[in-house]
Amino acid sequence: MNKPHIVILGAGYGGIMTAVKLQKQLGKSEAEITLVHKYDYHFQASCLHKNAAGTLHQDHSKIKIKDIINRSKINFIIDDVVSIKRKTKKVKLHNKELHYDLLVIGLGFEPRAEGIPGLDEHAYSITDINSARFVREHIEYNFASYANAVKKEKGNLNIVIGGGGILGVEFAGELIDQIPAICREYDIEKPQVHLYMLEENKSLLPDFDEKLVHYAATSLQSRGVEIIHQATLKECRDNKIIYEAEGKEQIIDTHTFIWTGGVQANPVFEKAGLALKNKKIEVHANMLSTKDDSIFVVGECAYAADEKGNEILPTAKKAIEEATVVAKNISSRLRNKELTACQPVKQDMLATLGRDDGVATIQNRMVFGWKAALIKRIFDNHYLYQLGGWHLLLKKGNFHLL
Ligand SMILES: Cc1cc2nc3c(=O)[nH]c(=O)nc-3n(C[C@H](O)[C@H](O)[C@H](O)COP(=O)(O)OP(=O)(O)OC[C@H]3O[C@@H](n4cnc5c(N)ncnc54)[C@H](O)[C@@H]3O)c2cc1C
Repeated sequence: MNKPHIVILGAGYGGIMTAVKLQKQLGKSEAEITLVHKYDYHFQASCLHKNAAGTLHQDHSKIKIKDIINRSKINFIIDDVVSIKRKTKKVKLHNKELHYDLLVIGLGFEPRAEGIPGLDEHAYSITDINSARFVREHIEYNFASYANAVKKEKGNLNIVIGGGGILGVEFAGELIDQIPAICREYDIEKPQVHLYMLEENKSLLPDFDEKLVHYAATSLQSRGVEIIHQATLKECRDNKIIYEAEGKEQIIDTHTFIWTGGVQANPVFEKAGLALKNKKIEVHANMLSTKDDSIFVVGECAYAADEKGNEILPTAKKAIEEATVVAKNISSRLRNKELTACQPVKQDMLATLGRDDGVATIQNRMVFGWKAALIKRIFDNHYLYQLGGWHLLLKKGNFHLL
């Protein structure tokens, strides 16, 4: 008899954790498992802002997939997922087609299209290793251009971050710490560099407590980040951005506009005819699609709500917890056992503000400063241990204490 074929799409936090758990839980005779991913490496998305700022080399955030999967149990295909054909239970990849009996969708996020003129063409984003490296190299290129130009263009040294949510704040915190080093490298005086952050609302970090927001804004401003509140981006060009604040149109000359204004679930699954909620796939508590009981969903692609019905913000923690339940439920399904429910993830909030600073709400308690930054490092290290044991933790872990 043919073994059931389990296909996992995407090796982000949710997808790779599903694969690693399944290779431990299932015997070779129970199922054939295939993992499909764009690259030959998994990356820690929660470290991308450091890669983009240059405080952590991107190679450190990359984990070779062949080093963590058991290739005698999992077929690994490097390819792009193009579409899902539910009627025939097939997934179309760029180079081939796969049949599945059970599918796990873990395709993550991409920048949200906002319809702002020029944004797609001229803004940079931080969504994967290549985009993070591009931001770092672009900033350095502009500093180098400035240092070498006879006619100096101040737009080379103005950097604008669009969006004061977690990603924008984390990136600003890292970059402002790194600017002195970049200035030294390119013989530029630090006061010539301006790092702006535009935020449409009255305050940064929506969903964080007011005290944490005040702490974060003060910390960033004291180190030189120029925060412009209630600023609505109107247009983005290659050498300037135009925004509206206090009823007036304002301009900042810049070649570096990094859009951190929001992400959305990967739209690859949109045409698959699954039930969607807030552009994500609606799932039962056991993480099966409400429309198709051969499709499990993890991470950013899965819509989850708490007991009060409020959407749970997607985080790495959510993706990992869901992956644990999905792996367990796939094993149960193959063994004709009952599926278990995923408990709503506690909505802890955390934003770092550079290497040794941050704000967080952990189990309803507010945490400020180095303690918040340390919690993030503990989380990242714990994740590495879960994924690849001591070997991966010692190779990739962050053991910096203060
Ligand atoms: C800069 C930054 C900092 C963050 N900081 C934190 C934090 O501190 N704590 C936290 O909990 N969360 C953080 N997050 C959010 C967290 O990273 C995401 O919620 C998490 O990555 C979601 O996991 P996932 O498994 O859904 O997808 P992802 O981790 O996004 O993985 C999806 C994978 O699928 C691959 N893929 C996409 N499309 C295709 C395709 N068509 N074919 C093949 N492969 C494809 C992608 O390359 C990607 O690797 C941060 C995010 C960013 C960008």
